[in-house]
Amino acid sequence: MIRIRSAVCLTLLIGLQQTCTAQVRVATDFPGGSAVVVSVDDAKQAVHIQPQLHPDDGWPCWWSFRLDGLSIGRSVHVTVSGNPAPFRSGRVLGSSWSLPDQASISSDGMHWKHTPKTEIKDGAAVYVFEAQAETMWVAWGPPFLPSDTEVLLGEIAGALPNSELFELARTRGDRPVRAIRFGARSDGSGETPAVWIQARQHAWETGSSWVASGFLKWVAGDDPAAIELRNKATFYVVPIMDVDRVVDGAGGKEAVPRDHNRDWDGQPVYPEVRAAQNAIKELANGHRFDLFIDLHNPAPGNRQTFFFGPKLDQLPETQYRNYIRWKAIAVSQIKDLVPDYRFTSYIKTQEELDRVSNNWVRRNTSGHVVALTLETAWNRPEGTQQGYQQVGKQLGLTIAQYLGGNVE
Ligand SMILES: [Zn+2]
Repeated sequence: MIRIRSAVCLTLLIGLQQTCTAQVRVATDFPGGSAVVVSVDDAKQAVHIQPQLHPDDGWPCWWSFRLDGLSIGRSVHVTVSGNPAPFRSGRVLGSSWSLPDQASISSDGMHWKHTPKTEIKDGAAVYVFEAQAETMWVAWGPPFLPSDTEVLLGEIAGALPNSELFELARTRGDRPVRAIRFGARSDGSGETPAVWIQARQHAWETGSSWVASGFLKWVAGDDPAAIELRNKATFYVVPIMDVDRVVDGAGGKEAVPRDHNRDWDGQPVYPEVRAAQNAIKELANGHRFDLFIDLHNPAPGNRQTFFFGPKLDQLPETQYRNYIRWKAIAVSQIKDLVPDYRFTSYIKTQEELDRVSNNWVRRNTSGHVVALTLETAWNRPEGTQQGYQQVGKQLGLTIAQYLGGNVE
């Protein structure tokens, strides 16, 4: 949605001097753009927006827009309030999901930094920052789009000559879901471990793709632990699963007909879920599958990163030992990690819980496999491109140590 306001020009009769204030414009006509403009005040260089509702495409929590016509050096006031429209059968999303303590801003659409911390009052946040360019981008968090996937995977493929870029699937909207495979080649003995890492089953959780980016950059780099790891195991990484909703600027979570992360059964709605299931099953049939990590971001009140995992006391002994060992290593490598696994409590039925990705993976692979959801905290100063990538590196170090030991 674009709203254009006419410029306000004041003719000062004394001296016949004309002063034109900037013509502030809000634009969302680009991939991932999302905002409903409530008001624009040129004189104050202030805008008020809400995240756009995308019917059937999940929570209206993601917002991202471009501001044109800013006066450099003056303050910009961006007010954000929650979208009050029901996103699904009479359900309205709480505004806290739309209101990070710090918004993300950029002068080039590539490098993002946080605004100063806002105060949230009466369901609205006002983010204040100085205009550093006539055009600036403002978003809920640092965006990560399919174009970022292309650049990232191209960079990793360039660094790792034996890697292979592949199209996991084409989405319902006929868009490619890009992925990369790299690392050790199986010698057919079943000794080479395989690891599957994916992000963005929930489109608004951009931090998860930045975690994937941090992992890839670390594992493709020259840290001896990274070199050893990629000589030892095969990796499959998908930086964006729900490409359609990422491009559309939708939230994705609790979408109709299905939440993307609760589509993991015998009849998935999303082609990329089916393709991931088939690839994982094939690896498991070759007795090579060891680790599945689904990358997400949690609730606004979760200021620490944590893993959603299974109830350990219900696991077979080997799997139990592997989960305990993974946890001990992860706590030593991932900064501020909640030391215990958490269990999904907001999904009400067992049938729906069974359709969550890591639960499907556990049921459809061998009895030693570790399958987890990593929920990287976003509502904190580390919720930046650099902060998320640091978690990705720490995830890599965790995997290196885990696979470096005796995997049962
Ligand atoms: Zn999620």
